[in-house]
Amino acid sequence: MAALIEIAGLLRRAGRVLALTHIAPDGDAIGSLLGFGWILRRAWQSEPGRPARRLILACADPLPPQIQWLPGADDIVREPPAGPWDAVVALDASDALRLGTAFRPQDLATAPLVVIDHHITNLRFGALNHVDLTAAATAQIIVELADALGVAIGPEAAVCLLAGLVTDTLGFRTTNVTVEVMATAMRLMQAGASLSEIVERTLNHRPLSLLRLWSLALTTLQLEQRVAWASISQAMREQVNAPATGDGGLVGQLINAPEVVIAAVFAETTTGKVEVGLRAKAGYDVSQVALSLGGGGHPQAAGCTIAGPLAAAEARVLPLLFQLTA
Ligand code: 5GP
Ligand code: MN
Repeated sequence: MAALIEIAGLLRRAGRVLALTHIAPDGDAIGSLLGFGWILRRAWQSEPGRPARRLILACADPLPPQIQWLPGADDIVREPPAGPWDAVVALDASDALRLGTAFRPQDLATAPLVVIDHHITNLRFGALNHVDLTAAATAQIIVELADALGVAIGPEAAVCLLAGLVTDTLGFRTTNVTVEVMATAMRLMQAGASLSEIVERTLNHRPLSLLRLWSLALTTLQLEQRVAWASISQAMREQVNAPATGDGGLVGQLINAPEVVIAAVFAETTTGKVEVGLRAKAGYDVSQVALSLGGGGHPQAAGCTIAGPLAAAEARVLPLLFQLTA
C-alpha cells in the first residue's frame, strides 16, 4: 500500500490536481473531497512564490440537499475541464466505474491516479493505492493526509471531514468506530466543527416526501429466511414527488429489525436500472455479493446497480442473500 507520506510528497510537488469522488455521492464522498481540497490548498499556500496552481474537485452526480451546505460545495464541478494534470486523486471509490463520467482515461496521460479509500472491495485501480480497511470513513484518512502534509486542519475542512465521519458511521454507531475514530472526531470539533449541526443537517434530514415514499415502499416489505427486502418504483416516486434516486436510508431501517440479519432495498432508476442497497448484521457479509454483481462496499453495508426491471433484479439478488442465511 502506498504510504500517505509518499502521496503527500507527490501532491506538494504537483501544480495541477484533479480530485474525484463517487456517483450518488454521500456525506463521506463529498466530505472527503471538500476536506481534501481545503487541506491541499492550505499546503500549497504554505509555499509562496510557486507558480499559480490549479485544483479541481469533481463529482459526476448532483449533491443531495443534506450535503450541499458543506463549505466549498458550490465549487464542485460535474464535468472536469481538460487537463493536463500532475495528479488525479480518486476518493471513497472502490473502482473506476464508481467515478462515473468524471473519470476520463485521457486525464491520466500525464498524471498518476492516486486512490484513497476504505472499502474492502477496492480493486486497487490506481498507480498509487492507499486503501485502509480499518478507517471508518475516507474522511478519517484525509485527516491523516493533513498530518502527512504537515498542515493544520482549518474550520472549513473540519466541518467537511466530520460530516464524512458522522455519515459513514451513522453517528458513531457502527462496529468500526474505535477510540481512534472518536479522537479524530474530537480533533475536528476542536478545529471548529459543530457535531450537533452536522447530525441535524445530514443524518436527521428526512423530508416528508421521503417518509411518504417509505410508506409506499414498506407496503412491499417481505421477510424470508431472516432476509428482509422492499422495492421502490419510479411510479412511487412520482406519486409522492420524491427525489429520483436512492432510498434515503430505508435499508438502514430494515436491518434494525431483530427478525432481520440481511436487508435489501431495490430502487428503480430513471433509466430502468435497479440500485440495490444491502445491509448485514455483524457476522454476515454482503460486500462480496455486491462485488460479484459489479458493485462494492463494506461487509455490513454494500450496494450495486444492475439491470431491471425490479422483479428481475430481485430474482437475481435474493437467492445470493438466502445462501448467506441458509
Ligand atoms: P448505500 O446503500 O448507502 O447506497 O451504499 C452502502 C455502501 O455500498 C457504501 O459504502 C457504498 O460505497 C457502497 N455502494 C453502493 N452502491 C455501490 C456501487 O454501485 N458500487 C460500489 N463499488 N459500491 C457501492
Ligand atoms: Mn466512505
